This record gives sequence, C-alpha cells and structure tokens, in this order.
Amino acid sequence: MNSNKFNIYNKYYMTTSFKIGIDYGGTKIEGILLDQKGYEIKRKRTSYDKNYDSGIDTIKQLVREFEDIVNTNCTVGIGIPGSSSYETGLVKNANSIWLNNKPFKKDLEETLKREVRLMNDANCFTLSESIDGAGAPYKSVFGIIIGTGLGSGLSFNNQIIEGVNQVAGDWGHQPLPYPTEDEVKADLKCPVINCERPLCAEQFISGSGFEKNFNKKNNLNITAQEIVELGLKGDESANKELSLYEDRLARLISIMIGIFDPEAIILGGGMSNIERLYQNIPLLLPKYTFSDKVRNKILKNKHGDSSGVRGAAWLWND
Ligand SMILES: [Zn+2]
Repeated sequence: MNSNKFNIYNKYYMTTSFKIGIDYGGTKIEGILLDQKGYEIKRKRTSYDKNYDSGIDTIKQLVREFEDIVNTNCTVGIGIPGSSSYETGLVKNANSIWLNNKPFKKDLEETLKREVRLMNDANCFTLSESIDGAGAPYKSVFGIIIGTGLGSGLSFNNQIIEGVNQVAGDWGHQPLPYPTEDEVKADLKCPVINCERPLCAEQFISGSGFEKNFNKKNNLNITAQEIVELGLKGDESANKELSLYEDRLARLISIMIGIFDPEAIILGGGMSNIERLYQNIPLLLPKYTFSDKVRNKILKNKHGDSSGVRGAAWLWND
C-alpha cells in the first residue's frame, strides 16, 4: 500500500469525529454512522448482488450517503467474514466466497480514497460489546457468536487481540473437550475447508449443529427456536438436548478460561437468545475449570445484531 498517499487523509481524521462502520454479510451489507460517543446517527441495510464489484459499489454508495449527512469525511471500518491477511493483503476463509483471494482492502482504499480498516466480524462483535456493550465494565472480554456457525474473538482494554495467524480466540473449530462416547460415535465431520475434523466443536455448538443433533435423534426437522419453545412447554427430549448443549458449551468455554481467563464472556447470534444458558452454564463451569472459584461472567450481548456493524465503526477508536 502506498501509505504516503493516505497521510493527508489520516491527518484530516485527527480532527474529525464521525465513524462509519460496515458489516459485510453474505446477502446484505449494513452501514452505520456513529458520532464520537457511539451515538447512532444513521443506519442502513441494503441488498447487493453476490459478487465482488457489487459489494464494493454498495459500500461506496453507503459511505457517500453517510458523509453527505454530516458533510465531512468519516473514518471507515469494515467487518468481514474471514480475515484480510497481513501477509498477502488478500481475504481468506470468507464464506462470502467471492471475497476470497481478493485484495479487498487495497481495492476499497482506492475506491474510497482513504485508509480503511478491516476486521473479522466476530472480532467486530467482541470489540463493540467491549467498548460500550455488555463488556464495558470489564478489561478482558471473550465474545462468542453462535449462529449458523461459531465465531469468537478476544479483546483486552478495548483492543482486539488478533494473533499472528489472525485467529486468536477463534477456538470453535477445535475438538469438543471431554467428549462422551455418544459424541465420539456421532462421527460428525466438519464440512468447513481447513477444518474437516471429527469432533469439531462447531458441529455441536452452532445453532445448525444443535438443530441437527436434536433432529437426528428425534427424527424431526425443526429449528433451534422451536426446540427451545418445546423445552419451555416441558418437552423432555428438548430439555434433555438443551442440558446437553449447555454442558458442551461449558466444556468448551472452560478451555478458554484456562488460557485467557476473561472477566466477561459475551454471547451473540441466534443461540444467545436462549435465556437458560445464562443461569445454567455458570453452574456447570466449576466442573471443568481448574480454579477454586469461577468468577467469569457469562453475559448476553447488549447491541444484538447491531454489534457487528458498531464494532466495525469502532475499529477507529484511537
Ligand atoms: Zn470445524
């Protein structure tokens, strides 16, 4: 990247206080305009054609629209699936596959004529919750998004710890700890490229994994939300699966406590709406954690679906 070219812009940023965050999803791109204190001025969600150029055009459009509102240049941070490699400048591991192996950061910088910051979307979630979300009172935060997949990130003092491979905290494709005989026998192989391992935790913990496991056992085809509703009505098989799920998640979280020991563990994504997780997981953690007391808080996110886009804006929190 030709950094001199951007010095003029960067100097300008020091005097400006508006931030634009972009959340690059598989079918939609969402943008947010925040003031210095994180107050939301404008938000817009828009569809785009599932290809590279359409994504760039959509972002350009959103940035232009937001800057017209405040009549000044804004910083731009973008949350993407996967990550933008430090080494090659190319996107890797994105499930929006048209982003993979593309110099997305460079192309955006040329289009928007400024430096942009890119970050994995689970890290954006973690950053947003750390700065002014459920993790605001705490220094060390572990954010977990549990939706169709399982993504996670670490932050300390409101800074993301990205790691040398840019996968710090993203432990969802590690094996499920303390597996039971049934879990081993389930013989679930992760379909994600670069993983493809048996016992991959995502196959048990993600929303879709939870559904699959329940449906297979009970010969049904219902959603995670429907399973939870069944459980609330007292259905025995649903409650059994939910208890098993909580135990699995506690096992997996205990591994992160053993490494990072974060003050706050914040859940996001569809599965974070299951209220019983916040009562039951803390009760299970001592069984799997090597400590006389387990003080780590298990919290629900504050910003919900907005956390990704807010975190992207907060990438410029210097
Ligand atoms: Zn996996």
